[in-house]
Amino acid sequence: MYLTDLTKPQIDELLAQWGQPRFRSGQVFEWLNKGVRPQDMSNLPRALREKLMEIPYGGAVIERKLISPKDGTKKYLFLLEDGNLVEGVLMHYSYGNTACISTQVGCKMGCSFCASTLEGCVRNLRPGEMLSFIKLMEQDEPAPEGKNRSVTNIVLMGSGEPLDNYDNVVTFLHRVTSIEELNISPRNISLSTCGLVPKIYSFIDDAPHVTLSISLHAHSDQVRKTMMPIANVYPMEDLLTAAKTYAQKTGRRVVFEYALVSGVNDSHEDAIALSRRLRGIICHVNLIPLNSVKERSLMGATRAHAQEFADWLKQEHISATVRREMGADIDGACGQLRRRVLHEMQQS
Ligand code: SAH
Repeated sequence: MYLTDLTKPQIDELLAQWGQPRFRSGQVFEWLNKGVRPQDMSNLPRALREKLMEIPYGGAVIERKLISPKDGTKKYLFLLEDGNLVEGVLMHYSYGNTACISTQVGCKMGCSFCASTLEGCVRNLRPGEMLSFIKLMEQDEPAPEGKNRSVTNIVLMGSGEPLDNYDNVVTFLHRVTSIEELNISPRNISLSTCGLVPKIYSFIDDAPHVTLSISLHAHSDQVRKTMMPIANVYPMEDLLTAAKTYAQKTGRRVVFEYALVSGVNDSHEDAIALSRRLRGIICHVNLIPLNSVKERSLMGATRAHAQEFADWLKQEHISATVRREMGADIDGACGQLRRRVLHEMQQS
């Protein structure tokens, strides 16, 4: 049991078992909701604080923080209680601040261009850990003018495959959107998946207002298999049917992420073939100029070429934009900062 994983009813039950009056449970919940640890819960009697301190807290602390001199993007390395490290990023947009958080320590999906997966998946993150990343970023960042909170949007696009940590991610989403807890609108949350088809269907029922992003990166199974091992498990046909069902049942357009890799998936023919496959799906294509990863030999397309690719899609009536590159100067891409720090630690 970890304190940060307890929901309001569970805290009520625990404090009732301890013979505490009901209002104490409300106080404990409020503190935990602010990301405060038991030793600092100043309006509780000492004996109760000490009892709470006996339960592991289960939250993260900020181990390191880098701020991009270019765009102010903040990259965090969070230290977990078992010594694991995971990354998170806070990006500033005109409409508010977006927190990009991890869902697993590492990842087992094995995509050929991604740094997070190089050492496999160490473990799943618990809901309380994912919530603590958001709370730490909120504590670290003043709310923008006219807003009452600093994190307004969340993307599950850090390390890990969110649908491979399904139950914890769904619990996290319920808690982060609950009016009683962080109260962030599900419409401001995106979950990105490499395409675990059966889990996409479950997700339609479990978290229908969240934006679903699918990492497609190719227009055919043949090319996709060279980049993403998951393409050997679920054919693209089935993935696109799941995406279409998601869009129809939820009324939300699906976002397809497409990282442009020079000479692999970025030609005019690729754009035409992609638009044919996406026809009939309410969707948007988010083009990402591949962030080159030291350990990977793939080359990203230039931003100008990505814009050209977007124009080719638009000519085929497929909505497309090029993703702004945030924090590339501070190892913004998945898994890069964690790897660098782990490497430094091994050397010292
Ligand atoms: N496992 C999930 C979410 C994490 S990755 C998924 O696969 O969607 C978030 C996004 O970053 C994915 O679209 C992923 O394909 C992309 N990505 C990973 N490494 C990248 C890199 N080096 N350059 C550009 N995009 C990358």
